[in-house]
Amino acid sequence: MALNGQYIKKWRKARHISARELGLALGYRGREYIKKLESGYFPVTPKFAARFETFKHQVQAREYRERKIQTRFALPPKIKILARPRRCAICREWFIFPNASDRVCTDRKCKRAYARRLDARQTKAAR
Ligand SMILES: [Zn+2]
Repeated sequence: MALNGQYIKKWRKARHISARELGLALGYRGREYIKKLESGYFPVTPKFAARFETFKHQVQAREYRERKIQTRFALPPKIKILARPRRCAICREWFIFPNASDRVCTDRKCKRAYARRLDARQTKAAR
């Protein structure tokens, strides 16, 4: 699949990299060129695509090296996870929740904060 502006934006946003940071990392002066590529105003050139792919591989290799998995249970050396990781609604950490409907982690602070938030919403709705 050819690299397109939508993909660049999605990839960048998922990593909280600003257009300016991406521009500078790829050897451009700032955000303007990146924004124009993302909006489709400029086409993605092969030169840009090559620079982007190199940067993407560096970033993803670092993410992979720095990946840390904490688990309650001992894990086998090879495992397939079939549930999608989600963020806790309060602390924003990543989890694979035991139940599909869970929105918060098991931390007491998170559970309390979430219950308070639900309470506040219900009182608001009742008014
Ligand atoms: Zn939490």
